[in-house]
Amino acid sequence: MKLKSVAVVGASLAGLRAVEALRKCDYDGRLTLFGAEAELPYDRPPLSKEVMTGERAPEDVTFRDLAHFENLGVDLHLGCAVAGLDVADQTILVDEDRFHFDGLIIATGTTPRALKGADGLGGIFTLRTMRDAVAIRKAMRPGSKVVVVGAGFIGSEVASSARAAGLDVVIVEALKVPLAGAVGEEMGQACSLLHGDNGTQLRCGVGVEGFEGTKDVEAVRLTDGSIIETDVVVVGIGVKPATGWLEGSGLEIRDGVVCDQFLAAGPGIYAAGDVARWWNPLFEEEMRVEHWTNAAEQGGLAARNLVAGSKGNPSQSVPYFWSDQYGSRIQFAGRATADEVQVVSGSIDQRRFVALYRRGDRLVGALGLNRSKVLMQYLVQIGQSASWDEAVGFAQGLEIVD
Ligand SMILES: Cc1cc2nc3c(=O)[nH]c(=O)nc-3n(C[C@H](O)[C@H](O)[C@H](O)COP(=O)(O)OP(=O)(O)OC[C@H]3O[C@@H](n4cnc5c(N)ncnc54)[C@H](O)[C@@H]3O)c2cc1C
Repeated sequence: MKLKSVAVVGASLAGLRAVEALRKCDYDGRLTLFGAEAELPYDRPPLSKEVMTGERAPEDVTFRDLAHFENLGVDLHLGCAVAGLDVADQTILVDEDRFHFDGLIIATGTTPRALKGADGLGGIFTLRTMRDAVAIRKAMRPGSKVVVVGAGFIGSEVASSARAAGLDVVIVEALKVPLAGAVGEEMGQACSLLHGDNGTQLRCGVGVEGFEGTKDVEAVRLTDGSIIETDVVVVGIGVKPATGWLEGSGLEIRDGVVCDQFLAAGPGIYAAGDVARWWNPLFEEEMRVEHWTNAAEQGGLAARNLVAGSKGNPSQSVPYFWSDQYGSRIQFAGRATADEVQVVSGSIDQRRFVALYRRGDRLVGALGLNRSKVLMQYLVQIGQSASWDEAVGFAQGLEIVD
């Protein structure tokens, strides 16, 4: 069946790549992009980095200008949150009207988890949008004290940016070891050494009990009874997929929109990016990843698969992310659940190393701290299902030339 009307819901990275790919593969029907935020699609990684430090202005992180969408013939609806989906009727609910589609791409990403007790007090923020970043930056005045709740990547980057501005920063992390889920305990410990090196106080294994203050936050009460005085709190305790609008739609929702390996979630319906939970044949594993590269790739792939129908391609790339903290770059490729993790090059003490992750006799993951080029070579190896012996041998060769 020839597609005549495609709707893309979510006007960020995956949604942008989807509309661009649709036109690139010669889809010439009606194309409508809906986005809940008022801004043109923009890049999120700089929000916790250069936008937070003031090195880049918020408007500089916009991906494309309005003319780009006009040239593509995209009907752009910004500031417009889609409220529902009826799979059988092939309609989405927009401002109480039903909008018909014969192809739909869901790219609604994630929203930050909130902390109980944070409502109503000024100075407590989460960071997902450009507006959040601008508000946090404004609140971080010279001499401000900052508490970051959660030592994940975004919390750690906020801490790093606040330190760059010369502010006192304490990170409160409920886990005993930060980043244990993302890179495993041993490497989580290694990455978190950067905080101490750079004057950020890291308190692990303790939660937030509540906040003190009348109008604005004045202190954070911890579960061990201690109190930290503060002016600004940034809560970075993870995100949840933005699937509320899909409740009762008939799609399977399970911590994301459940898709097959081609990113199909239903007839003529695809999902891409942070919101998609799909079967990745490369790892023979169902996954949902919250990384930039995945959103960019899947937006394009979902569009091409929608147009190709039964002749589509599976989404089988190697998950990859990076994080910039205190002038260091952490990168991870692949999967962190492993039988063994081994530092194969450099050392944790030098804050410059590569660690490899083994499952059975296969290389499944690689973590690099300040080893950008080499890490990308391991990414390729993981994509080629390289054996553990091959990967370790490659590392030994590197040591000679490194
Ligand atoms: C501060 C920050 C720093 C980051 N840094 C890195 C990094 O260094 N490296 C890395 O790999 N990744 C990083 N990421 C993650 C990366 O930005 C995300 O993986 C990527 O943005 C996901 O793109 P997406 O299009 O799937 O979803 P999102 O970017 O979440 O976009 C979803 C869009 O859909 C909209 N939407 C939601 N519901 C509706 C609805 N019902 N109707 C219409 N629109 C809706 C939302 O408003 C949003 O604009 C970072 C993220 C943040 C927030």
